[in-house]
Amino acid sequence: MPVSWTNLFRIVFVLLMAGHVLVMYSLARTQQHGFGFDFETAILSTLFALLMLLPLAPAIALSDLPEAYSRTARRRRFKNGLCPTCRYPVAPSGGDICQECGMRMIEPDPYRFTWSMARRFAFFALIAWIAGSIASEGWLIADEAAFRKEAEGEALKGRGSLLRDRRWPGNGYLAWDVDQGYFTAQGGTFSIQYSLPPAPTNAESE
Ligand SMILES: [Zn+2]
Repeated sequence: MPVSWTNLFRIVFVLLMAGHVLVMYSLARTQQHGFGFDFETAILSTLFALLMLLPLAPAIALSDLPEAYSRTARRRRFKNGLCPTCRYPVAPSGGDICQECGMRMIEPDPYRFTWSMARRFAFFALIAWIAGSIASEGWLIADEAAFRKEAEGEALKGRGSLLRDRRWPGNGYLAWDVDQGYFTAQGGTFSIQYSLPPAPTNAESE
């Protein structure tokens, strides 16, 4: 089955929505200051991504843009005395079968909003929500696994700590310290806030 423009547009539309979910999930998950997968954080991030998907509801019309355009064009051709499908002029003898392409020469229905469109959008959003959330969590876990490898490499070199940015679209830093293990951090270059309190120092010695 060839992929029509309408279907291609819908695939791109679902991918864009999934990308939006991926970024929103990642934003919520990495604001939670945690290293590694956490069930409660995953649920909250998923719900946040769903909430951020709601403002896209008006895009319900967008997913049907090629269909609306095609309907309008077909109706215009019919009103101008052309075959809606192939633009061949209607024969003076009449008849409701096009002599060029054999399609029926009936006036195409105008484009209207229907509940089946709403259901289709809900279905697209559901796919984007699930796929985007899973992809986002997988991407963050992969980044954290890569960081563990990097930290192990640093430990082999005799170093005791490592700090680096999370991979996009993750927010904040991944951190490792020989005393505290793996944790995360937030903030700018000069004001980093760690998710764990710093290791105790000899504050009592005066
Ligand atoms: Zn025709």
